Amino acid sequence: MERYSLPKLPYAFDALEPHLSSEILELHYNKHHAAYVKGANDTLEKLEQARSEQSFDHIGQLEKNLAFHLSGHVLHSLLWKNVSSNGGGRPTGTLAAGLDEHFGSFDAFRAQLDAAASSVQGSGWGALSWEPLGKRLVVEQVHDHQSNVGVATLPLLVIDMWEHAYYLQYQNRKAEWIKAFWNIVNWEDVAARYSSASGLDIGL
Ligand code: MN
Repeated sequence: MERYSLPKLPYAFDALEPHLSSEILELHYNKHHAAYVKGANDTLEKLEQARSEQSFDHIGQLEKNLAFHLSGHVLHSLLWKNVSSNGGGRPTGTLAAGLDEHFGSFDAFRAQLDAAASSVQGSGWGALSWEPLGKRLVVEQVHDHQSNVGVATLPLLVIDMWEHAYYLQYQNRKAEWIKAFWNIVNWEDVAARYSSASGLDIGL
């Protein structure tokens, strides 16, 4: 069976300094992201074993683990592509128009994502997502990696609010981490995701 693997990081560990330290990025990628990849693969193996033994006593925990680790893998893979050493500024074109349409303005969108990200209780993420049923952009506050999201939404831009994502550099100053994050957002990547997501037909 095909397994998940850690995607290659598209830049060096120090590429996002001073906004994100090399030390954090290296640990985040090599330890945390890698652990989610391993967790997803281990869980798939256990599910395979459970099916072959027809033993589903631990199915609840296994399904929970699959959701957690797989979502962690997806979100981190997306996060690495969402940021760049040439990032920052504001989006232009269709994405800028979409943010104006769905949030009123870029500033209103940014204020909502700032608020959602900074108020995560415990570990989680802030996300700009495409909601394909109503065909709208929404901000989501993700709990852990997989809770508190609309079931069909597709994340386009994510900010990691787990302490491992910022604590070594920003300690408890979450607002500073979020402000720094805006300086590395790769709007070209987000715009490309918006363009492909907005054409998605989920048949509902
Ligand atoms: Mn993380």
